[in-house]
Amino acid sequence: MESSGGRAEGSGRGPRVLVVGSGIAGLGAAQRLCRHPAFPQLRVLEATARAGGRIRSERGFGGVVELGAHWIHGPSQGNPVFQLAAKYQLLREKDLSEENQLTETGGHVGLPSVSYASSGVSVNRELVEEMASLFYGLLDQTREFLHAADAPVPSVGQYLKKEIRQRAAGWTEHEETRKLKLAVLNSFFNLECCVSGTHSMDLVALVPFGEYTVLPGLDCTFPGGYQGLTNHIMASLPEDVIVFNKPVKTIHWSGSFQEASSLGGTFPVLVECEDGACFPAHHVIVTVPLGFLKEHLDTFFEPPLPTEKAEAIRKMGFGTNNKIFLEFEEPFWEPDCQYIQVVWEDTSPLQDVTSELQHVWFKKLIGFLVLPSFESGHVLCGFIAGLESEFMETLSDEDVLLSLTQVLRRVTGNAQLPAPRSVLRSRWHSAPYTRGSYSYVAVGSTGDDIDQLAQPLPTDGAEAQLQILFAGEATHRSFYSTTHGALLSGWREADRLIALWDPQAQLPGPWL
Ligand SMILES: Cc1cc2nc3c(=O)[nH]c(=O)nc-3n(C[C@H](O)[C@H](O)[C@H](O)COP(=O)(O)OP(=O)(O)OC[C@H]3O[C@@H](n4cnc5c(N)ncnc54)[C@H](O)[C@@H]3O)c2cc1C
Repeated sequence: MESSGGRAEGSGRGPRVLVVGSGIAGLGAAQRLCRHPAFPQLRVLEATARAGGRIRSERGFGGVVELGAHWIHGPSQGNPVFQLAAKYQLLREKDLSEENQLTETGGHVGLPSVSYASSGVSVNRELVEEMASLFYGLLDQTREFLHAADAPVPSVGQYLKKEIRQRAAGWTEHEETRKLKLAVLNSFFNLECCVSGTHSMDLVALVPFGEYTVLPGLDCTFPGGYQGLTNHIMASLPEDVIVFNKPVKTIHWSGSFQEASSLGGTFPVLVECEDGACFPAHHVIVTVPLGFLKEHLDTFFEPPLPTEKAEAIRKMGFGTNNKIFLEFEEPFWEPDCQYIQVVWEDTSPLQDVTSELQHVWFKKLIGFLVLPSFESGHVLCGFIAGLESEFMETLSDEDVLLSLTQVLRRVTGNAQLPAPRSVLRSRWHSAPYTRGSYSYVAVGSTGDDIDQLAQPLPTDGAEAQLQILFAGEATHRSFYSTTHGALLSGWREADRLIALWDPQAQLPGPWL
């Protein structure tokens, strides 16, 4: 294997550090290391042609749409993404206000502005509010099992269903109303699948569900696009630090590798890329998504990862949540409408779906968010999680547009509703360097698995310490699945290296 030369190579000063992946975790780590004089030999290897990873804003419909991260969750002083976005002046005045920062949402999505049922009528608002209050009340209860001695059932989904079944037994209304209540609850289950990035809440472990910490603050968006944040971080790095289109194939560690082009010292790690290029290093910070790690676990590390770490990667959950943007010539919704919920009256969280995906995939869609004014069109953003979302990725744009036009005509009761004039969607499961959307604590795993994944290697006190470090959203125990968890994890690993090479450094952590 021939190794590649580079920017600071040959200068021989300081450790050589490679960051794999230029999402917000990788960029955050790189920014922190670049600011420290001990790390002049830093490179970021990115598989694709762009930085940002799952932060991906695209120009569309005369505005900007977010194919990946949408909101800053909990925008308040304890959120580093909020702090950084505020520093770079990327947020609206009202989102910076103290009032917004102090608002407690409990991490729940706001109520729908309107709920359309599959028979073409709007669902009574009071019924929707009653079901939202039931659903979110139960969801809040699930968080309390974190400190309980034992749990009644393994998953969040089973717990919610058990409680709902009990409550439903006491409902005294007409059969039709009881069915409608369950159908509305089913839509909230679908929404929670999007929030948790899972196919089913039955896959999400009950006891560790409360590990995720909800920060105060009313979720906010970036008017110019989330990617403004990663672009700013990138602009602060020396120009040639990031190497694009350099997918890493295998990280050889615990070795003694030499640079082909110099007679210098040896390195404990060698990073081999898909194109054959090899980069020797003292330290590698791995920030690739958990979905990629799961798929390439057998070949990405040589020697393979210790059993406990490999097991943690296998056990943790990583599911799919996608967005489907529909552009309309004219809005069919009211001017103050923010969220259109879609309720399928033949569904219930207490009944499993048995039909083939091709006939029912669209029933997993939660409905649509109304995006704020665009220059040339009116845009709705649908969210869909799970296997149905992955199936949607296999369809053509025309098929998706046709299916959703039929859905909208049916639920609005307007057979003449003009079709959207265009569609744009994410396909995170098919993306080879992501393979899904974000992580969750799956049944069979716990918060300890997140900590296990975050442990650097080797762990046996070898002379060459911290050869492989792990960052990325799936490695942050209290903020997994978010951009702020990812950023903090990048800072955490950068600080680990800074502490190794500059023990006197004043570090602001701990980051967990
Ligand atoms: C649809 C969707 C909606 C979301 N909504 C929100 C939200 O509203 N709020 C929020 O806080 N979070 C949200 N998230 C989650 C958030 O986007 C992620 O948690 C965060 O961006 C992850 O950052 P990361 O750096 O850990 O990983 P990534 O951003 O995935 O970065 C990893 C990088 O590694 C690269 N890579 C992978 N394999 C290799 C390889 N072999 N060699 C080299 N490079 C490689 C990838 O190309 C990528 O650039 C959402 C995510 C999705 C998909």
